[in-house]
Amino acid sequence: MLHGSHIMAGTALYLFLSPIIGMQITAAGIIIAAISSLIVDIDHPKSFISHWTAFTKMISTGISTVTTHRGITHTLYGLTAWIVIIATTLNYLEKAVWSPILLGAIIGYLSHLIIDSLNPQGVRWLGEESKIRLKGPIQTGGIIERFGVPLVFAFIIVKYLQGL
Ligand SMILES: [Zn+2]
Repeated sequence: MLHGSHIMAGTALYLFLSPIIGMQITAAGIIIAAISSLIVDIDHPKSFISHWTAFTKMISTGISTVTTHRGITHTLYGLTAWIVIIATTLNYLEKAVWSPILLGAIIGYLSHLIIDSLNPQGVRWLGEESKIRLKGPIQTGGIIERFGVPLVFAFIIVKYLQGL
């Protein structure tokens, strides 16, 4: 799916779920939700995140030589690795591990897997060897993605602003 859709889905889901989980919404949480919604496509050398910085380009080159697009990063193992990276970093910085940042990281990453599962290519959440592939009818860059995602995003933002 388009990177704009992933950012909208990641941040909207973060704003929507944080109060339900009982976690405060923070700017850092929103930013990490957006970054986490994009990091999943680091396995694709032409993705937005892969061109973001020299560092992400280097990581992307490494990952894309050992896995295919929608491979290991598009699984629950990829999500687990991302949680470990963020939790370890927070711990190293002597910050609380269970925090809006970790929650943003989890929600952002999950939102990417959910959104990618809506198109015909689908996602093998349990890895490439798994027979289970979640997929849907929404075409990447199609009319539903281009209008539907921003509409749901706008709706959640309005709901969030009304709650302030
Ligand atoms: Zn993806």
